[in-house]
Amino acid sequence: MPNISGERLLRDLYELRKIGEYKTGVHRPTFSEPHLRALEWLAQKLPQASLAAEIDGIGNVLGTSAEAGPKLLAGSHLESQNFAGWLDGPLGVVYALEAARVINSDPNIQGAVEVAAWCDEEGHFGHFLGSRSYVGDVTDQDIDAARDRTDNRTMRAALQAAGLAGRPRVTAERGRHVGYLEAHIEQGRTLEGSRLAIGVVTSIVGIWQYQITFTGEQNHAGTTRMKDRRDAGLALARLCVAIDDRFPARSGPRTVWTTGRIALDPGAPSIIPGRGEMLFQVRDDDPEIVERLEALLREIATEIAVASRCGVDVKRLRTGSPAMMDDRFQRAVEEAASDFAEGRSVRMPSGAGHDAQVLATIMPAGMLFVPSIGGISHHWDENTDDADIIKGAEVFVETCRRLLSN
Ligand SMILES: [Zn+2]
Repeated sequence: MPNISGERLLRDLYELRKIGEYKTGVHRPTFSEPHLRALEWLAQKLPQASLAAEIDGIGNVLGTSAEAGPKLLAGSHLESQNFAGWLDGPLGVVYALEAARVINSDPNIQGAVEVAAWCDEEGHFGHFLGSRSYVGDVTDQDIDAARDRTDNRTMRAALQAAGLAGRPRVTAERGRHVGYLEAHIEQGRTLEGSRLAIGVVTSIVGIWQYQITFTGEQNHAGTTRMKDRRDAGLALARLCVAIDDRFPARSGPRTVWTTGRIALDPGAPSIIPGRGEMLFQVRDDDPEIVERLEALLREIATEIAVASRCGVDVKRLRTGSPAMMDDRFQRAVEEAASDFAEGRSVRMPSGAGHDAQVLATIMPAGMLFVPSIGGISHHWDENTDDADIIKGAEVFVETCRRLLSN
């Protein structure tokens, strides 16, 4: 039976909110001064949980236990998107810290919770660089090439300025952990809409990305008659409408798709576009559904190209691999929710990416969600009721206890 301190937990979260405070959220991009202060903040707290703290050569904070017995790894991230929310990341880190404080001092529980804050989950410099480094999936060349997407600073310069250059990068010791558990705000409205307290994450969806290019004929917008045109921009617009009409019949219940960027070439008011390009993304946790949709996308694009007298090219830029959460972890979260959240839980996939998908490549992994007010995230208005934060922590700590006990 975990005995968490709700007061201590909220105090920790409020302290983190002060570091890089912006309106009601935070501005704490990777390797900014407030981000480095947040890493130090965590490193100084970890000894309270009988953990030895280390900030490694890529900015991961790791709390390691010297105790014998099984170990569970838990954590999330401390940097934020630019001008964003206070709970995206810190909630999972503070839950892990609280779990370690409660469990590592309990003589009735064998083993320990170890804590991690993964650097750059929010992708200022790359793509899950911290957790991927830990699982052995980042080379020195990857780090050489990484730059801050906002100000173009190299990751090497940022590490140097942070005093982390030259430190070794810690990688996972295979077999050390029974698995990895991460808590996160839902960043959607599923839980709030159904008055539920806990989301038991079943999988983290894969992301498939496409570049679709129509080629027509660039010509004068005043002298080219409508019947003679081969307008690549119009073809693109038709494609967007056709996707919206025809995808729903073949998608899964939670498939989502987005046209994120459209570019017309040359993109001038008096020129018929000769080339139109769009970036299109599909997310689902079932590769078969995405395969079906990709075939449909190619079929629709070809039909429209013929009707618009344009050429078309559909290129897959990225293939997603969904990460499945471990069954035992899902059951443990569910059982903990039935003890501490009146069973108000639901199994659901995560539509957003999380470090757990990276850790899942080398060990069993699980996640739980707590409600987000209004589903708002990546914005300073992001928030969760204090009562939901505390309830989520109770479920989290009980889940840790269960995972270490059997
Ligand atoms: Zn996050």
